[in-house]
Amino acid sequence: LKKQPIDQLTSTCCYCGVGCGVVVNKEKNGSITLTGNKDHPVNKGMLCSKGLNLHYTVNDKSDRLLYPQMRYNKSMPMQRVSWDDALDRTAAVFKTFIDKYGPDSVAFYASGQCLTEEYYVVNKLMKGFIGSNNIDTNSRLCMSSAVAAYKIALGEDAVPVCYDDIELADCILVMGGNPAWCHPILWRRVEAHKAANPAVKIIVADPRVTDSCANADLHLQINPGTDITLNHAIGRLLIENGDIDFDFIKDHAEGFEAYSEIVFKNSLFDAAKTCGLSESDIRLAAKYIGEAKGFVTMWTMGLNQSAIGVNKNLSLINLNLITGHIGKPGSGPLSLTGQPNAMGGREVGGLANLLPAHRDLSNPLHCEEVQKFWGGKPIQPKPGLTATEMFEALNDGRLKAIWIMCTNPLTSLPNVRLAEEALKKAKFVVVQEISNKPETLAYADVILPAAAWAEKEGTMTNSERRISYLNKIVEPPGEAIADAEIICRFARKMGYKGFDFENPAAIYAEHVKLTAKTNLDISGLNYDILKERKTVQWPYKKKGPPDGQPRLFTDRNFYRPSKKALISAVPDTLTSELPNDDYPLILTTGRIRDQWHTMSKTGKVNKLNQHYKQAFLEIHPDDAGILGLKELDIVVVTSRRGEVQVQAKISAQIKKGVVFLPMHWGKILGNDLNRANNLTSDRVDPISKEPDFKYCAVNIKKF
Ligand code: SF4
Repeated sequence: LKKQPIDQLTSTCCYCGVGCGVVVNKEKNGSITLTGNKDHPVNKGMLCSKGLNLHYTVNDKSDRLLYPQMRYNKSMPMQRVSWDDALDRTAAVFKTFIDKYGPDSVAFYASGQCLTEEYYVVNKLMKGFIGSNNIDTNSRLCMSSAVAAYKIALGEDAVPVCYDDIELADCILVMGGNPAWCHPILWRRVEAHKAANPAVKIIVADPRVTDSCANADLHLQINPGTDITLNHAIGRLLIENGDIDFDFIKDHAEGFEAYSEIVFKNSLFDAAKTCGLSESDIRLAAKYIGEAKGFVTMWTMGLNQSAIGVNKNLSLINLNLITGHIGKPGSGPLSLTGQPNAMGGREVGGLANLLPAHRDLSNPLHCEEVQKFWGGKPIQPKPGLTATEMFEALNDGRLKAIWIMCTNPLTSLPNVRLAEEALKKAKFVVVQEISNKPETLAYADVILPAAAWAEKEGTMTNSERRISYLNKIVEPPGEAIADAEIICRFARKMGYKGFDFENPAAIYAEHVKLTAKTNLDISGLNYDILKERKTVQWPYKKKGPPDGQPRLFTDRNFYRPSKKALISAVPDTLTSELPNDDYPLILTTGRIRDQWHTMSKTGKVNKLNQHYKQAFLEIHPDDAGILGLKELDIVVVTSRRGEVQVQAKISAQIKKGVVFLPMHWGKILGNDLNRANNLTSDRVDPISKEPDFKYCAVNIKKF
């Protein structure tokens, strides 16, 4: 007989910022199965390969951490201890460092996978009570360039559009992203829209021919790092052709004169040469955009993960602004979030330069307001250490202790061998994790077992400002507990008041209060509404629309003091590590279809490992020919920072002079030669501090 599910609850896929709804069936034996939620506005029942296999990661407990562990020095083995012992010791060590070296001697490094409630309590603990702003997350490696650009252009980290704008657009420009693999369900919507409306134009700008190009009317196979040149050239053509919105520019934007001056500095001929494109293709892109009544720009890590990431973002947002394609149906910039809850983290201020509800640390009034609300210590007005800065500070001894929560920096940070050195030097390392696999555990003094997806309740916000409620469906294994509970217990051990939350709903209610009268006001929202409606879009004010606000800036009032958007005249100067005779090729890194980030979950699923079983180097046939390489030859790839050895995948789909490595693989059984971040550059964008993962110089030799 077919087993019947005994319980059915909704949740949200925890893999990417698309935020697909799932229906989870809980079986009698405690295992789960799941399907896409047909009633969910994002995915309407669809799930990609990762989402479809999500239940395997919940059912397979073989790698789970089951109880707290600690050791008194690094030469000792880990011992099983009680939660009280682990947290008492951690609190004692943190207090000692804080007393001796000050609050900036400790740090929390968290994750875009954390639920909003978890982000909220750790941010409150660090900024409001420990008295340091050293709390950053791996969202720094992902969306911080987009955040900074939105703030500059629109006055707030606020994505203006909703996914329904996809079906209302007649031109979509995708830049620096492969959503067909990395945001698959969103891309299914683009594909369906194009299939139903063949006149819709899709433009993809990418140095590689990706699956996203299959539906494109135009693929602009640009040279890496030339996005600003291309966007400026398109901007110039739009101006020349009269395809700009003069009324919008006059009434609702600033900076157009300086912008037009800068885009007219470069001829189309020179721009085409720099980008490695034909002039006619750039003209065609400008024509498609110029003719569009609804124009959506989409981008992700190709623009964000760059030493000029903020300027790249601004140069793209400019195209929406000069054409007036913002704040109306079918138009606007749509940054695609890599992680499931990077946006929720920003909402509660979970980065080293932010405060709750998008308040700013550099604003003394904001600091005072939040300090009064929390009732803790005065908030320090200077930004804390960002992701990469934390590991630099561990290396040079400024930072003594780090608490790593829900992320694996030893696979995901750039120039990762430096991060390894940093953890070796750290005086005290706490790792809060679900899995016994991450390399960070080898450096831990204390290991805290955390509950995973479906084992705890909370909320997340996706790329279109959509807040979703996630049910707790199964019990966590062993003694694992929810991340927010771990942080609150620790805060109480430190003697801090304000961490006696009865449940996640109470944490959320406190977060909601702090948003009142801000641009992301969700003061009309609570768990009861979220449980009933499952998902709404912020802002969600009292007496507002029942599903929240799908689109921002419909009144053309932007969140800048002048109420006008800023068209930024960004310089077109590449500051990445350029190739030379010793390192003649450009390395770019990225995702593959069936793996997610550092593989701690997707790597457990056999089906997902079939797509690519190991790391590889994609290289153009001409470059392979010069090096005498054949398909599947082992190649030694070196940069100024390290080396990897992987099989060659010879493909005409990558631009000549460029090579690609997938980002997912870390150290396996002591071997780190699959790890792309041995090579990557730790240059960062000067504003967003986001690393330059997509551009560094490498040398390649046959093994
Ligand atoms: Fe999950 Fe993203 Fe796939 Fe949707 S598109 S099922 S959110 S991984």
